[in-house]
Amino acid sequence: MHLDYHHCVQCVEGVHETSWHLFFECPFSQACWLFLGLTNFHMEPMHMIT
Ligand SMILES: [Zn+2]
Repeated sequence: MHLDYHHCVQCVEGVHETSWHLFFECPFSQACWLFLGLTNFHMEPMHMIT
């Protein structure tokens, strides 16, 4: 899909939006994970997804 604008709308710095950013790097998603009790963001990618 071609999009003219593909920066994260949750971040003010114009961060390039990737699936990894949306699920794990974005401060908004990290706040959601913290709310659900996930606090370790330094695992291997497959462990994070699992
Ligand atoms: Zn973001």
